[in-house]
Amino acid sequence: MTKQKPGLNTICTHVGEVEDKQFKGAISPIYMSTSYAYEDVDVKRYPRYFNTPNQEMLGKKIAALEGTEAGMVFGSGMAAVSTALLAFLNAGDHIVLQKTLYGGTFNLVEEEFSKMGIEYTFTDGLQKADFEKAIQTNTKVVYIETPSNPLMTVTDMRMVAELAQSKGIVSMIDNTFASPVNQNPAEFGIDIIIHSATKYMGGHSDILAGAVAASAAHMEQIWHKAKNLGGSLSDFTVWMLERSLKTLVLRVKQQNKNAKKLAKWLEQNGHIKAVYYPGLKTHPDYALAKSQMSGFGGMLSFELADELDAAAFLKELKLIKPSMSLAGVESTILSPTQTSHALLSAEERAHQGISDGLLRFSVGIEDKADLIADLEQALEKVVKDSLNFSL
Ligand code: PLP
Repeated sequence: MTKQKPGLNTICTHVGEVEDKQFKGAISPIYMSTSYAYEDVDVKRYPRYFNTPNQEMLGKKIAALEGTEAGMVFGSGMAAVSTALLAFLNAGDHIVLQKTLYGGTFNLVEEEFSKMGIEYTFTDGLQKADFEKAIQTNTKVVYIETPSNPLMTVTDMRMVAELAQSKGIVSMIDNTFASPVNQNPAEFGIDIIIHSATKYMGGHSDILAGAVAASAAHMEQIWHKAKNLGGSLSDFTVWMLERSLKTLVLRVKQQNKNAKKLAKWLEQNGHIKAVYYPGLKTHPDYALAKSQMSGFGGMLSFELADELDAAAFLKELKLIKPSMSLAGVESTILSPTQTSHALLSAEERAHQGISDGLLRFSVGIEDKADLIADLEQALEKVVKDSLNFSL
């Protein structure tokens, strides 16, 4: 490659390739070996040491995408989240987490941290005062997620990074919803960047993986914990993830475009009570989102008017699939109460602002006219049913 800093599409296509020295193939060969020579080598390689040729090289692509010194790939997003957190937290330490978080991260903290003697506080809100109030003398990590799952709240990354730095605390972000295409938290001073690579990085709903990007020193600490916890990814899946990442920018840009159009369409529809999308001027943090994101992402949430049956609406959809997970090239939709946040109590969901009628929409790369037509026909049917019912 040339000396010039490569653009995002070039990073996606080329950085972190495993060179095929033997046959000069155009793409990375897969090294499936779980056993490597240990004599006369610089690196003792083993899949659970996260350093097979494919793992090591994909880490470089992750780092290049996030603009950090180092990157690592994990067996799932939660393997990445838990390993990164436990690398910096010991018994007697305290962590501050933002109130609105992916349900799995919330469960990890609620169900496991007390047993390990790790103290935690969820903030009351997302403003500087909320974080300041939650920080204690033994706070070691501050953890944010922006935009958050599923309500698309936006947290000020620079504010959090500066606050953490001023107190010698490590800052971490779950950057899954934005993807490295729309947001690079390292530019704002955030230390550790985590992704569920199952989502935009994989992008085809066929890979479970996680990724972390950080400085070399922070990554060294994460790596020491990672080899003990063992959450590594099979080399075949590493290879698939490398292939998927080649089209990351193309996919995400199309998803950004579609989501913005659909959010606007939903917002002007009389049968929709609320739309949550950081790219809408009516979003309370539109200006903040605009200042720290280069695109607003492919995720949005909305609520139907009270008289409409959300479950019936999902059943009427023909193109948009009601299904778990998110960020595939195909559009999917779900009820957070029944899926991503099902393990939270009704009070915990209410505290986060998640209503039972909330629908989280992962916008795909299809033609927007077809997506709108699908939403329209499903809405027409549930509106008709509600009118028949009230007659
Ligand atoms: N972070 C966010 C924002 C998520 O949406 C998810 C999964 O939905 C995760 C982390 C966990 O990722 P995984 O399911 O790959 O473990």
